Amino acid sequence: MSEKVSVECCVVGGGPGGMLLGLLLARAGVQVVVLEKHADFLRDFRGDTVHPSTLEVMHQLGLLEGFLKLPHRRVYELRVRVGGTEVTVADFSHLPTKCRFIAFMPQWDFLNFIATEARRYPSFTLRMRTEATGLIQEAGAFVGVRAQGTDGPVEIRASLVVGANGRQSELREEAGLEIESLGAPMDVMWFRLSRLPDDAPQAMGTFDRGRILILLDRGEHWQVGYVIPKGSLEQVRGAGLDAFRESIARLEPFARERLREIQSWEDVKLLTVRIDRLRQWYRPGLLFIGDAAHAMSPVGGVGINLAVQDAVAASNIVAEPIRQGRLTTDHLRSVQRRRELPTRMTQRLQILMQDQIVRPTLAAREGRPRLPAAFRLLVHVPLLRRVPAWLIGVGLRYERVRTPAVVGIRTEEVGVPVTIE
Ligand SMILES: Cc1cc2nc3c(=O)[nH]c(=O)nc-3n(C[C@H](O)[C@H](O)[C@H](O)COP(=O)(O)OP(=O)(O)OC[C@H]3O[C@@H](n4cnc5c(N)ncnc54)[C@H](O)[C@@H]3O)c2cc1C
Repeated sequence: MSEKVSVECCVVGGGPGGMLLGLLLARAGVQVVVLEKHADFLRDFRGDTVHPSTLEVMHQLGLLEGFLKLPHRRVYELRVRVGGTEVTVADFSHLPTKCRFIAFMPQWDFLNFIATEARRYPSFTLRMRTEATGLIQEAGAFVGVRAQGTDGPVEIRASLVVGANGRQSELREEAGLEIESLGAPMDVMWFRLSRLPDDAPQAMGTFDRGRILILLDRGEHWQVGYVIPKGSLEQVRGAGLDAFRESIARLEPFARERLREIQSWEDVKLLTVRIDRLRQWYRPGLLFIGDAAHAMSPVGGVGINLAVQDAVAASNIVAEPIRQGRLTTDHLRSVQRRRELPTRMTQRLQILMQDQIVRPTLAAREGRPRLPAAFRLLVHVPLLRRVPAWLIGVGLRYERVRTPAVVGIRTEEVGVPVTIE
């Protein structure tokens, strides 16, 4: 016998998109349950950038002050080094936002913070270690999900199911939605190196000798991304760990000794880069947001930003109709209409950067790359650095929280259960 649960909205996936949507809907008085298949938010590095626009959302919700008390590093500009020339490519200090920096914070801290805030609303429930295994369909509409929880199977009925379960979401196929793949020329190998107090404090990308290295300042360590041509993992591994360490040391000599910290390939994780999107983000009773609707390239580090903006737009559009029992497929279509253009344009810009900068760098195995024309412009006209800062820090369409908080339901009680039939 499976447990039966009835809510107004069931969000599958407790990543940045799903957790923020859960918080926003609960704040608007919608009965919402978020399902997360893992027992906690502690996972390998999945992107730790909290962008100015996400910080602005925190500000609108009155949560910014508490949020910024969590340990984080502030990055005010992004720099790259191409063949020995250093260029500031984005300067966030002029953004018209409350915070003019990217906050680097482990994603689990960000998600735990959102979970704590969301749990203050009695209409919010987070079910960890609960994996959605299938959709429930009746009379041509999606009316819930089947899940496997800690105590066995659960059947969750909802007026709206939101798939916020990331780029590998299997629910999309089940819903019969078509995925358009746009390809990507690279994959990224991620690992950590210790960071010393004297190391330069900012985020940095190095393009040289057919290689690209990204260094992200995580306080006590560097998060390092080594970009490789797509499909070349086995070749890199086949050359051995010493060759791997040497190719990184040639780009960043300061790291040479620390590269011994990589003791085996177990210490190096692969991010398979892909850019894709759903042609249609919704079906009756079902909506996809975040990576599940559109996987982004790591160029610009905007995946979390877009997932958060999707969540804000979705809650603005669906919260009231759900509460009033008048949600229709038109509302779900409106979410796609609102978010599709910025998503497509961001992906197009990412593909442009991949073609103009990443692909040629990876192809020029030994030569020193020339500074790309776009970067030369940024050197000569510093004012232009505000453009990438806007694209990365705010995005092409900024979403403001428009749903009012329902007064009188906020509570300090934690983990109030949803109705169980
Ligand atoms: C190595 C790496 C580095 C990255 N670096 C950056 C970066 O620097 N900046 C940036 O902005 N973005 C980065 N990204 C991308 C970023 O992590 C994603 O764009 C962002 O997390 C998308 O958020 P989301 O909520 O849509 O999905 P996700 O964060 O993928 O969350 C989906 C959640 O759903 C859960 N889930 C999946 N299936 C089920 C199921 N059936 N039932 C229940 N739960 C389920 C998963 O466990 C997960 O918690 C990186 C990604 C990776 C992998």
